[in-house]
Amino acid sequence: MKVILAETAGFCYGVERAVNLARETAKARGGAMLGSIVHNAGVVREIEDLGMRLITSPDQAKAGETVLIRAHGESRATLDALRERGAEVVSAVCPHVERIRKLAQEAEHEGRRVILIGERHHPEVQGIAGWCSDPLIFENVQEAQKYLQEHPDFAHLPSIMLAQTTCIRALWESCVKFLKKQCTNLKINDTICNATQKRQTEAAELSAKVDAMVVVGDRRSANTRHLTEICRENCGKVLQIESADELSPEFFSGCRVAGLTAGASTPASIIMEVLTTMTEENINTTAPETSESFEELLEKSFKTLNTGDKVTGIVTAIGTTEIQVDVGCKQAGYIPVSELSSDPDVKPEDVVKVGDEIEAYVVRVNDVEGYATLSKKRLDAVKLWEDIETAVEDKTVLEGTVTEVNKGGIVVSVKGVRVFVPASQSGMPKDSDLGQMVKQKVKLRVTEVNRAR
Ligand code: SF4
Repeated sequence: MKVILAETAGFCYGVERAVNLARETAKARGGAMLGSIVHNAGVVREIEDLGMRLITSPDQAKAGETVLIRAHGESRATLDALRERGAEVVSAVCPHVERIRKLAQEAEHEGRRVILIGERHHPEVQGIAGWCSDPLIFENVQEAQKYLQEHPDFAHLPSIMLAQTTCIRALWESCVKFLKKQCTNLKINDTICNATQKRQTEAAELSAKVDAMVVVGDRRSANTRHLTEICRENCGKVLQIESADELSPEFFSGCRVAGLTAGASTPASIIMEVLTTMTEENINTTAPETSESFEELLEKSFKTLNTGDKVTGIVTAIGTTEIQVDVGCKQAGYIPVSELSSDPDVKPEDVVKVGDEIEAYVVRVNDVEGYATLSKKRLDAVKLWEDIETAVEDKTVLEGTVTEVNKGGIVVSVKGVRVFVPASQSGMPKDSDLGQMVKQKVKLRVTEVNRAR
């Protein structure tokens, strides 16, 4: 049996970051983690062995003790309770979750009611809701429909839609489709995180081409459960397990190809064990179908960005203030709308759409928060200059529009670059009125480039 391992299986960067912070804090200060740092008993035990105890309520924190907040985040009331007890809070909250909290608070500040699409009792949803004054939580489109039937006036009130980071895309889209039609003043922010999106897309594609699919992850993990649901839509034989002990040769009977993926909180060691067992379960085993080793794949998923890098990524969400780009690194990439195009009036959706491949420059990396600010505008400008320089070398004829007359000649805009044409080269008779050329399209050859000016 051939086993295909999903490239996205295992820790996402948010979980990796939280676990590393827990390890460092445990070693340096001991302290406590409020709730399991990840849905994995082995990892929690490891952190406990390093000196950090597990507490389940702020009341259990001691005065002066360091308390680690996990990637899902906590409500304002919980953080207040910890501070009141004199605990020192260390945040391992994933930047994607932090961003949702900020969006929710900003929207409430603008007078909008927050609508969260996600699992009502999930700690992340509870945490975000705990920063809002009166949020609505819908687990599916039916709940949204029921609410609108019972509260028809809500359709005309200002509101904002936000998604749990691990929400199933199809579920989110069905809610968007319905609420967009009903609500007249609705802001929509797709906040499904790029790591989740990539993992779900790969799981859907992989499960559609294999005979059996194995999903590894803790039963309490929402993103693992969602992966299983997605795989079941595409494959008749899907098994969700927590460890290799739950595998049996009977499950794979008659299978030629099996797929393997894992939730965001599944450690690499467990995935490795499952992979090894799956390949050993069958007599005719072959190596997993991947050109890279598992360690190489993990390494790739944790590659980092540096300021000044040119990156290629996939647009995963378009918001009113920024465009989310998956650059295949541990940091999330964002292009502020002001860095998208040199045209200040351009609408983001006119320039890019979700799923587009996009190139950009890294202008700032925030390692603490785990995101990178990107600029397409700056890369476009550099490319433009390169195009003009090539045109000079190749003696290519370019086209532009005359924008102004100045001392000694005219200025022509060629793809946004100002090109000066001396009066003697304008093609107009000496001493004629060059003003009549303004707004006219002209053809020209550039003979000299000066980027500094
Ligand atoms: S799944 Fe996404 S939001 Fe959740 S911790 Fe990982 S990166 Fe962050």
